[in-house]
Amino acid sequence: MQIGVPRELHPDEHRVAIIPADAKKLVKAGAEVVVEADVGVGSGFGSDDYGEAGAKIINDRKELLAQSDLILRVRKPDLGEIETLKKGCIHISYLDPFNESGLIEAFSRREVSAISMEMIPRTTRSQKMDALSSQANLAGYAMVLLAAAKLPRIFPMMMTPAGTLKPANVFVIGVGVAGLQAIATAKRLGARVTAFDTRAVVAEQVQSLGAKFLDIDLGETGETKQGYAVQLTSEQLKKQKEGQKKQIAGSDVVITTAQVFGRKPPVLVTGDMIDQMEPGSVIVDMAAESGGNVEGSVPGETVEVNGVKIIGDGNWPNLLAHDSSRMYSSNLSNFIEEFWNADLKNMVLDFEDEILQGCVITHQGEIVNETIKNLNK
Ligand code: NAD
Repeated sequence: MQIGVPRELHPDEHRVAIIPADAKKLVKAGAEVVVEADVGVGSGFGSDDYGEAGAKIINDRKELLAQSDLILRVRKPDLGEIETLKKGCIHISYLDPFNESGLIEAFSRREVSAISMEMIPRTTRSQKMDALSSQANLAGYAMVLLAAAKLPRIFPMMMTPAGTLKPANVFVIGVGVAGLQAIATAKRLGARVTAFDTRAVVAEQVQSLGAKFLDIDLGETGETKQGYAVQLTSEQLKKQKEGQKKQIAGSDVVITTAQVFGRKPPVLVTGDMIDQMEPGSVIVDMAAESGGNVEGSVPGETVEVNGVKIIGDGNWPNLLAHDSSRMYSSNLSNFIEEFWNADLKNMVLDFEDEILQGCVITHQGEIVNETIKNLNK
């Protein structure tokens, strides 16, 4: 089986889908790995490293796309490239399948088996393949460092002959994978951290990191079978905003990571709350690119509202492209390994498998994923 790894085309994408160490594993398993020249340059993996790993390096992207049986990338492909793929190949990347019906139809027309990394079920068995978690974890870390760099204060308490500096107050809204890492990172830097999530089960995790859980009574909030938050009613959302107002006003840094799977993120920090914050304070909106938790955040930018900086950079793992590539590549190679047939030296898709039922979107000219198939019904 030929595995092709094209360069990421988005100008702000520095990650690479497969790092040399994982290319080596795939070659050892019997695959022929072909990478586009300079594929790892943005994340600090040189062509020599890929060569030493046993991968073939080629300049001709079209040839790579047309001849590979399995294509691996980070970002979803450009629509135009889909018809240049080998008919019937497997294609694995982020896909944003809830919002990319055009891409999905194009994959289907080309009879490609398109696999969406964000749709891998979050089960114990699939933890090692879970790119949402590996990338969110690094995002949580990166967001705190960005906030610390923009804040005109320090995070820890400091007692010096020149006076005592109080620790910064950090408020984290949304305590999934990214939120937990944001709390841990802010604690490591010495901040005083408070957090809130609609899933009451996370209160204990917050406390175990030495942070305080903000108590807001929203009544029954629930969570899905997969552990995701359920969308709040407008009444609950109102209560949440009311309950966190004071906390936000007293925070030097607010980090929002609240998501509801398959839906637009809720707006939780509004203009009137931002107005109550001290000038110089910083807000990081993890969800800026997908609609935003914070009123006024701009995807890809840092803006200032009444002296408060709102960071909406997005693609946070990209700031740590070396390590995020290591983790993404490991998720991908674990996934391939799980479905690798050693005799055939091929990846074989078994549709009885619950992981594949969750993440294969198109196969043999049809949309096979139940969730995506039923989206507009
Ligand atoms: P996510 O990115 O979907 O959402 C981030 C957080 O935002 C969640 O904790 C959610 O409850 C919270 N949220 C939603 N609406 C909110 C609101 N109005 N106010 C405050 N917070 C709000 O979450 P995630 O990081 O992808 O994790 C989702 C779940 O999946 C978690 O329960 C996690 O433990 C679970 N998970 C399981 C596995 C596994 O078992 N393999 C792996 C990773 C994650």
